[in-house]
Amino acid sequence: MAEAQGAREAERPAAAGDGLRCRACGSPGRPLFSKRGHRFAACDACGCRFVTGATEPVSYDESYFERADVNGYADYRADRDLLLENFARRVRWLRPFARGTRFLDAGAAYGFLVRAARDEGFEAVGLEPVRSCAAWARAELGVEMLSSTIEGAAIPPASLDVVTLLDVIEHVGDPALALRCIRRWLRPGGIVAIETGDCEGLLARVCGSRWYYYDPPQHLTFFSPASLASLFERTGFSAPLGFGHLGRAVSVRNFSFQLGRALGDGILGEVCRGVSRSPLGTLRFSVPDRGNAFITAARAS
Ligand SMILES: [Zn+2]
Repeated sequence: MAEAQGAREAERPAAAGDGLRCRACGSPGRPLFSKRGHRFAACDACGCRFVTGATEPVSYDESYFERADVNGYADYRADRDLLLENFARRVRWLRPFARGTRFLDAGAAYGFLVRAARDEGFEAVGLEPVRSCAAWARAELGVEMLSSTIEGAAIPPASLDVVTLLDVIEHVGDPALALRCIRRWLRPGGIVAIETGDCEGLLARVCGSRWYYYDPPQHLTFFSPASLASLFERTGFSAPLGFGHLGRAVSVRNFSFQLGRALGDGILGEVCRGVSRSPLGTLRFSVPDRGNAFITAARAS
């Protein structure tokens, strides 16, 4: 996930997202609202939404995943079984589109998707810039991990059949650059699969600026199915092969932690954080993705 910051595209003289320029297509954006000191804009050319201008660097170290600060996740690894289940469902969704088994998960964090893909028969490797996360994945899950950002990765051209970006593209400061890199890694007919929030979905429309995906500075670029299709077209991919709303199992621990973040420092936020730390935190439930998030895939064209 740490490729989010400072991405540069060779043909652009300035950073994507500078001023009101769209991070995904470079067109002028239209101001929307401000949140936590960050300005948001909409791009009428490609349909995406984005955080404008330069943003402070996000430290995607272990604390991001281990509740040591206010960002990120509550004890990510404690949800191991849930994560493996959720990722296995995503691997099974994309499998019918894959024409080979060489699989790379970009923004792999602790490697749970890599393990799920391997368990489903893929030759899977993870790409994760946080070295301690990659080391944990190697030691605890026995998976192969590369430590790099997307832009910095030394991956041979035309060497992969599947690349996944699950809950990652919203972190990416220059999504067109990331997809062009991935396009080069794919063999002809290879696919990229992306899962992210739907900024035109029902929940985003109801919540407005309070939608939890609007989470600067770690989330910078926001897509709908149509705006992601537009990005595919501009970066050497086919039209979307399909869309899925796979839902996900979540723990009370992580859900209440995230709700506490959204509610802030008040009493309700404290209650949520208390629930997160309590024995109730080990309970789990399922949330639907329809109206909030989607997965899609496109083929290298
Ligand atoms: Zn745009």
